Amino acid sequence: MVDCLFCKIIAGTIPSSKVYEDEQTYAFADINPQAPTHVLIVPRKHIASLDHAAPEDIAALGHLHTVAADIARGQGLANGYRTVINTGEDGGQTVDHLHVHLLGGRSLHWPPG
Ligand code: AMP
Ligand code: ZN
Repeated sequence: MVDCLFCKIIAGTIPSSKVYEDEQTYAFADINPQAPTHVLIVPRKHIASLDHAAPEDIAALGHLHTVAADIARGQGLANGYRTVINTGEDGGQTVDHLHVHLLGGRSLHWPPG
């Protein structure tokens, strides 16, 4: 098994603040929130990054995004929100398990830094 922080969070061996879970997905609060709502939505399957996603992962990737929208609705983000996937070094990825950031609750700037 890969030595992976988010796999350990999914397995429950590292604690997290759960927001949502289903058969394919686990979502939890980011430990270093960049907005009033900052949730990470991850596939239970270890996929190192978007660059490692295979055709068989297409449905799971779509599901992560509809889960993000459901969480955003549940958290009252009616004014909008942002979903982000950081990929690789230049993309700012620091944990090598694919995840969607859901950010909301404040006005977000564009372009990002
Ligand atoms: P990224 O930089 O896109 O790979 O995002 C990784 C995110 O994981 C960062 O926003 C971190 O704050 C967050 N993070 C790191 N460790 C934990 C943890 N133990 N629990 C929750 N979030 C974490
Ligand atoms: Zn993992």
